[in-house]
Amino acid sequence: MGYNPAALTMLSVTEARSRILSHFQATAEETIPLIECARRVLSGDISAAHDLPLFDNSSMDGFAIRAIDSRSAAASRLTLSVVADIAAGSAPTVTLTTGQAARIMTGAQLPKGADAVIPVEDTDFNDRSANTIAPQTVSFTRIVKAGENVRRRGMDLRSGEVVLQKGRRLKPQDLGLLAMLGVGHVQIHKKPRVALLSSGDELLDVDSPLTAGKIHDSNSYALAALIQNTGADVLRLGVAKDSRKSVEGLLQKAVDNHVDLIVSSAGVSVGAFDFVKEVIESNGKLDFWRVNMRPGKPLAFGEYRGTPFFGLPGNPVSALVGFEVFVRPALERLSGQSDGISPTVKVRCAEEIESDGRESYLRAKIRIEDGIASATLTGHQGSGNLLSLVQADALLIIPAGVKCVPVGQEVDAILL
Ligand code: AMP
Ligand code: MG
Repeated sequence: MGYNPAALTMLSVTEARSRILSHFQATAEETIPLIECARRVLSGDISAAHDLPLFDNSSMDGFAIRAIDSRSAAASRLTLSVVADIAAGSAPTVTLTTGQAARIMTGAQLPKGADAVIPVEDTDFNDRSANTIAPQTVSFTRIVKAGENVRRRGMDLRSGEVVLQKGRRLKPQDLGLLAMLGVGHVQIHKKPRVALLSSGDELLDVDSPLTAGKIHDSNSYALAALIQNTGADVLRLGVAKDSRKSVEGLLQKAVDNHVDLIVSSAGVSVGAFDFVKEVIESNGKLDFWRVNMRPGKPLAFGEYRGTPFFGLPGNPVSALVGFEVFVRPALERLSGQSDGISPTVKVRCAEEIESDGRESYLRAKIRIEDGIASATLTGHQGSGNLLSLVQADALLIIPAGVKCVPVGQEVDAILL
């Protein structure tokens, strides 16, 4: 499919994105040790193999008692005999009967017969220093309710309950919960692997001194970081020269490495030296879409020898906005998440904003005053002005069809 501007219909961002996403599905599963699971995505639901807590236990250092015994304690001091000393990790063997108590530590299992714990500070034995021996008796002067300071078996969750759902990106606290439930190995989706290349004869790597007419390749640094932040692995292929042979060489490396996705920047416009387009088309398929957005020239999406391919614009801001809007959701889908579209918040425009009617992603600084987030643009919105993206806290989304946003109006924003 060649580039024929006349034949292109204008697609909305939403339409372009859903067309793209229809080409992606989650990577295969693998089982890995729990310690390696932070930020990985579950490939199936996880249900609890046992109740949490697994046994009734004390939430305080104190004395396990029968709550009913404490009824008389409000009228006169009650003294109970201490028949056991239960440390965390031990299994109590006693059964409390009327008039009896057991010293108990936080987290220790409640003995049979006990249904409440009175904290040490409410008794005549307020000594928690290490190695103290339990007293013979303990006394106190208040009524204790059944269940007081007891964490009952199953009060947090029941055996069989689904605790974490398929598609969840695991957070540190999730790892803790899985450990509580004895899940030492977890089935997750494989990390997506992404090949990244830049293209253009003007590009030199950051370590090469600039000569006349050259610039440093900056896209591959920013894009590599964005890809890695989604939890994917990056294979940096470097810079393709503006020649068929060079482009083909790098794309072949991507294919040989069996990556899940190829992301390229530049070389897909209509310039006389844009070979990426030509090479992809002769070994796969490339669609050019005129997306009703700014920044973002026609977006190229297709496949090279069976591997999905994104051709992002070359201009640094366009490349990064294109990533945010199209590549990130695709990577999230590959990772096993159903919805990877960046969440938005509402912010108030602190200045009048003009737009050209395309869905616009504008770089803005957010200031919070009296609890209200207000946005100011970070300078000129040219698609080569990367500094303005560096200074931005957010991308304001001005909807398609809107030409002017007055001061004080709320718009959606993606926080960066
Ligand atoms: P192109 O899409 O090749 O027409 O490039 C559009 C603009 O983006 C040109 O000004 C290029 O020099 C610039 N550009 C392309 N690739 C990169 C890159 N990797 N890093 C920085 N600027 C780039
Ligand atoms: Mg170029």
